[in-house]
Amino acid sequence: SLYETPGVSKPRYVRVNTLKVDVESAVLELEKQYMVQKDDLVPDLLVLPPGSDLHDHHLVMNGSIFMQGKASSMVAAALSPKPGWEVLDACSAPGNKTVQLAAIMRGKGKILACELNKERVKRLKDTIRLSGASNIQVLHGDFLKLSSVDPSYSKVRAILLDPSCSGSGTASVRLDHLLPSYASGHSANAADEERLKKLAAFQRKALEHALSFPGVQRIVYSTCSVHQIENEDVVQSVLPLAASYGFHLETPFPQWQRRGLPVFDGSENLLRTDPVEDKEGFFIALFVRKISDTIQDS
Ligand code: SAM
Repeated sequence: SLYETPGVSKPRYVRVNTLKVDVESAVLELEKQYMVQKDDLVPDLLVLPPGSDLHDHHLVMNGSIFMQGKASSMVAAALSPKPGWEVLDACSAPGNKTVQLAAIMRGKGKILACELNKERVKRLKDTIRLSGASNIQVLHGDFLKLSSVDPSYSKVRAILLDPSCSGSGTASVRLDHLLPSYASGHSANAADEERLKKLAAFQRKALEHALSFPGVQRIVYSTCSVHQIENEDVVQSVLPLAASYGFHLETPFPQWQRRGLPVFDGSENLLRTDPVEDKEGFFIALFVRKISDTIQDS
């Protein structure tokens, strides 16, 4: 496929699960077999040579390291919840970002991991078990139906919203199929267009819902899609509502070059990764508002 161009090999990334092992120990162990570097941007992320096969490495099997791409690892890092916070992962299975949040929070505080799909709840629980995290509560249900005024969520300070998307930034087969649309700006066919519209409508609803939680200070909206309709357009459509709640866009990883498509004022705050150059096509938006800590901590 076009995205597996011979000769253009990409490094492998693994994220150290600092709930189980510290970065230095993981590096020492991996260095027995591989050249290992620390990623220059994402904390606890290690870079290994292209082609390194870690699937049955004992550190993977016992949950000390997770095979997670760089772009994917940037999402929870962009939210950067503090230890002790209460965080809601709105669409959480299979849970890679959920357990990354737990590691970022050093196991302190509370994570609510919501997931609608029953089969995927099982995978979420497996991931949580493997990670060793003990502060994650699984909510099997529809994020849209969690009442934001329910006192059980009044302490939620951060929301990670990584909703269902077309996957056009990661699935190489599907990406090839959609390439004409991605490259030309025109959809490949009416069915694809219809599907994208439905996804975007859900994504917008979910983001609007996330914005309505009264105690929330930070929201990350992310997709693994390359399509503007699921990314910049969704963010732009909620901006007036976000502003009415006191949120503004901030710039995750300011040193990162590739930003949002220049389709509205402020889209330079958004972050994109490229499916070819960066191996995965991700999109990240970070909404922030200040809430008086005296209200929050009382
Ligand atoms: N954040 C996850 C990770 O890093 O492992 C990946 C999340 S995946 C892109 C989106 C998930 O949202 C799917 O598992 C899907 O079943 C779930 N989902 C879709 N609609 C939902 C809803 N209304 N409420 C909760 N979860 C939902």
